[in-house]
This record gives sequence, C-alpha cells and structure tokens, in this order.
Amino acid sequence: AKSRGKDRYELYSEQLTSDAVQSFSVEQDLRQALQEHQLVLHYQPQYRLDDDRLCGLEALVRWQHPERGLLGPDQFIPLAEETQLIVPLGWQVIEQACQQMSRWLEQGLDVPLVAINISPHQLLQADFIPRLNALADGFGLERKRIELEITESMIQQDPDFVIQQLQRLRLSGYHLALDDFGTGFSSLDRLKYLPLNRLKIDKSFTRDIGRNPKDEAVILTVIALGRSLGVEVLAEGVETEKQRDFLKTHQCNSMQGFLMGKPVPAELVRL
Ligand code: C2E
Ligand code: CA
Ligand code: CA
Ligand code: CA
Repeated sequence: AKSRGKDRYELYSEQLTSDAVQSFSVEQDLRQALQEHQLVLHYQPQYRLDDDRLCGLEALVRWQHPERGLLGPDQFIPLAEETQLIVPLGWQVIEQACQQMSRWLEQGLDVPLVAINISPHQLLQADFIPRLNALADGFGLERKRIELEITESMIQQDPDFVIQQLQRLRLSGYHLALDDFGTGFSSLDRLKYLPLNRLKIDKSFTRDIGRNPKDEAVILTVIALGRSLGVEVLAEGVETEKQRDFLKTHQCNSMQGFLMGKPVPAELVRL
C-alpha cells in the first residue's frame, strides 16, 4: 500500500508540473492571440416571446487557435481572468462588437441591440466608462443599442463602487443586464439598487422546465420579480418547444437558446 501511495504521489506531482507548464504556455499563446487578433465573436439571437421578433444579439467570444482550432470561452476566460489579460481581451471584444454593429447598421440592417459580457476586472477599471464612450461614439452607435451583461458575483467584490459604476453607465445611456440570475445567491435587497434593464434567467433553471417543479417555481418568481421591479426578463438556454411554451404562457419577455439559434459568426447571422 505504501509503494502505491508513493506512485500516486509521483503521478500527482507530474500532473501538477505538466498543468503548470501547460497553463504557462496557454498564457503565452493567449498574449499572442491578443496581438494577432485571433479572437472572434459569434452572435446568438434573442427573441421576444410575445411576437417572436428579434430583440438582440449576444456576442460570445471564441479563440481561433492556429493549432488547436476554435476554442470556447470556458477554455480560456478563466485563465484570462487570473492573469488580468481579461482587460485587453475585453476591449477587443467590445471593439469588435461595436464595429460589427456599425457594419450591420451601415448595411441598412436593423439590429436592435448587441449584448456584451463584461468581466468584473474590466468594470472596475477607472477608465472603463470614458473608453467605452469613445468606442461607441467612434462607431457612431447609440448607447441604448449596447447592453452590458454583468453577473451577480461581480457585485460581491466591491458593492458600492460597482453600483456607482452601473448607475453611471445607465445614466450614460447603456442597457444593463444581470446574467446567470439565480445562481449567485446575491441578496434580493441589493437588486433594487441595481439600475437594470434585464434579468437573464440562468439556463440551469430553464433546462428543467417540465421536469422539476422547483425550477419552474424559481422561474415564475423571477418573472414576477422582474415585473414588480420594472425590469425585463429573458430566459437563456431554451432548447425545446415545451420550455418556450411554458415561458410564453407565464409571460416571460424574451428568450435565447439553441431552439431559436446557436451562436454563429457575424456572416451567418440572419437579420
Ligand atoms: P453566458 O454569458 O451565460 O453565455 C451563454 C452560454 O450558453 C454560451 O456559451 C452559449 O453558447 C450557451 N448557450 C446558449 N444557448 C444555449 C442552449 O440552448 N443550451 C445550452 N446548453 N447552452 C446554450 P459559451 O459561448 O460557451 O460561453 C460560455 C461563457 O463564457 C458565457 O456564459 C460567458 O460567461 C463567458 N463569455 C463568453 N464570451 C465572453 C466575453 O466576451 N467576455 C467575457 N468576460 N466572458 C465571456
Ligand atoms: Ca452572457
Ligand atoms: Ca448566462
Ligand atoms: Ca454562464
């Protein structure tokens, strides 16, 4: 048993080394990716439930890696967050989304709004708002066409500053959405101080519509909460007709999910 213990330890330490080496090289790769603009955005449509009209597009980042192919955000966003690379990465995302939006508008296409995921580090930068304004103005975009998606965990970091920052953004004309709502145990009390336009119900709740009455109860509660706070409610992760019907019946405002469309490159977005 002892020798097996030792073997296991060696295996584990080898594993640790290779993980460390691997994350180092991924970090190098990611720096290069930023320099060489290997990050691309895919867009997923959002629809109103009452009239099925398109009401937004969420920009989701991917990494077109020269050797490893197209990588999803879960494969590099956590590392980017740890290394602060998320800040320059986030600016590339915002810039690309704004540029694409202005292209669509130039082509005479009606794009109601583009939703962009914002990381806490980015929002906490002192120059976040002026830089964002400069980008939006530079591309000639109305600010209400830009929705910033933030998460509950963001608010826990430095609540007063975050709330202030969100109020400034809202006063500047941007739309704000609270992403993954229901997963962060944030205090409902704080919600009333957040100047939100939308709550996004996390897909873990949507998934179990028709299977788990508790998830359905959470969804109904969020819809009611949104209504009483005057905030729109969007359900994400809608994959089946049954889920859509449930949401429509209970007057959720909008939805997003594989049933209506997967995230696709800009050229494949149908407007
Ligand atoms: P999220 O913001 O919650 O984005 C929704 C995720 O759910 C996306 O995964 C999307 O492809 C996926 N999804 C959409 N519809 C369905 C559905 O019907 N069923 C299922 N099972 N999944 C669905 P993706 O693109 O892999 O993004 C993962 C996460 O990475 C995002 O979660 C977001 O937190 C983060 N992320 C993506 N782009 C960015 C970015 O530009 N900046 C930052 N900071 N984070 C980003
Ligand atoms: Ca999101
Ligand atoms: Ca989400
Ligand atoms: Ca998520």
